[in-house]
Amino acid sequence: MIIEESKRLFERAQHSIPGGVNSPVRAFKSVGGTPIFISKAKGAYLYDVDGNKYIDFIASWGPMILGHAYDEVIEAIQEQAVFSTSYGAPTELEIKMAELIKSMVPNVDLIRMVSSGTEACMSAIRVARGYTGKNKIVKFEGCYHGHADSFLVKAGSGMATLNIQTVPGVTGGVANDTLTCAYNDLDALTQLVHLYKGEIAAIIIEPVVGNMGCIIPQQGFLEGIRKICDEQEIVFIFDEVMTGFRLSAGGAQETLKVDADLVTYGKVIGGGMPVGAFGGKRYIMESVAPLGNVYQAGTLSGNPLAMIAGYTTLSILKNNPGIYKELSDKTTYLKEGLNRVLTAANIPFVINQFGSMISVHFSDHPVNDFESAASANNELFKKYFHAMLNRGIYLPPSAFESWFLNNALTYEDLDKTILATEQALREIL
Ligand SMILES: *Cc1c(COP(=O)(O)O)cnc(C)c1O
Repeated sequence: MIIEESKRLFERAQHSIPGGVNSPVRAFKSVGGTPIFISKAKGAYLYDVDGNKYIDFIASWGPMILGHAYDEVIEAIQEQAVFSTSYGAPTELEIKMAELIKSMVPNVDLIRMVSSGTEACMSAIRVARGYTGKNKIVKFEGCYHGHADSFLVKAGSGMATLNIQTVPGVTGGVANDTLTCAYNDLDALTQLVHLYKGEIAAIIIEPVVGNMGCIIPQQGFLEGIRKICDEQEIVFIFDEVMTGFRLSAGGAQETLKVDADLVTYGKVIGGGMPVGAFGGKRYIMESVAPLGNVYQAGTLSGNPLAMIAGYTTLSILKNNPGIYKELSDKTTYLKEGLNRVLTAANIPFVINQFGSMISVHFSDHPVNDFESAASANNELFKKYFHAMLNRGIYLPPSAFESWFLNNALTYEDLDKTILATEQALREIL
């Protein structure tokens, strides 16, 4: 596969953009090689600047659940654009968006739109702190909640590690208010909460993790956290930036039947435009300005172009609930095919799948937290990634990311992906 133009652009980009990219994972650092520069996409396919075509398993990290350049979404954006791209004043479209979301997901009485998942999570913990009057938050090792200071705390090993300043630019003061715990370890969490009794404002979690590969909550884990939060008056925040409108119309809350107090959204909610949102129980969301005194604002929040893309995407998902079964069936088919060829290759592997999220780990033990995800064979993943890219299959350029299926993928695309894996393994092993 020739990628000369991508190589030229990557070289040029580095003169004016840090590392040549506007978000680190795009630089292919963890897999090596040259990032592919994209020129266009349609349906399940990406096209690069050298004219190569790829089957896309990233879907812009989730948002393009219907496939790229979905006709109805594009038409809606075009219709809106002629009426101006921003007003900085309220519109009816924002009410329709809020009402639509409320009709789809549980436990959202009030919802505020923002422009990214980072903003949504950052705002949700501020609201939780303002509402409870407490300072500390708990996050789980390997979960990602955006790049706000409070979340950029490296996983301390063991329980109740006092976080020192590990990410340059994040002050010790901020880091000390973030406690970390291993995912799927309810005992460790129970001890941590006991140790910091009366100090914890919120526990934030990815209800199904997408940011250390796909990791599934063990039976009773989320239910156990719910109980702890009720007993200790802690706000339970579901970060549904990945799972929202992806696992089902109602997201992880609906699929897993666990209630959150606050929920954050991003990715699918904007249909490919920069949108995030945080919402939840009325008595907590009433703290948000101008209703309450927890300040939060955004010049482009509720932007009409972003809203129409999100509204159109969510409407399609709401009106065609069969899409979730189709997506899940396709992902199961992919899992079974990959399982077949990986077994035949006789190497240790684990495939985690939940709905349309799936990840392959070259590991000989179950992958259910950060430690087990980190101990998989990353060298092999790198080779696998490049062997697949060479065969026109675009996987996430990191072993720590979930793959996201979009509904434009056909069974023929999946067969090609399974065959490519078979060939790739023969080449790299
Ligand atoms: C992507 C992601 C975020 C951050 O969203 P951005 O729009 O990139 O700021 C937060 N939480 C989760 C679970 C995510 O996957």
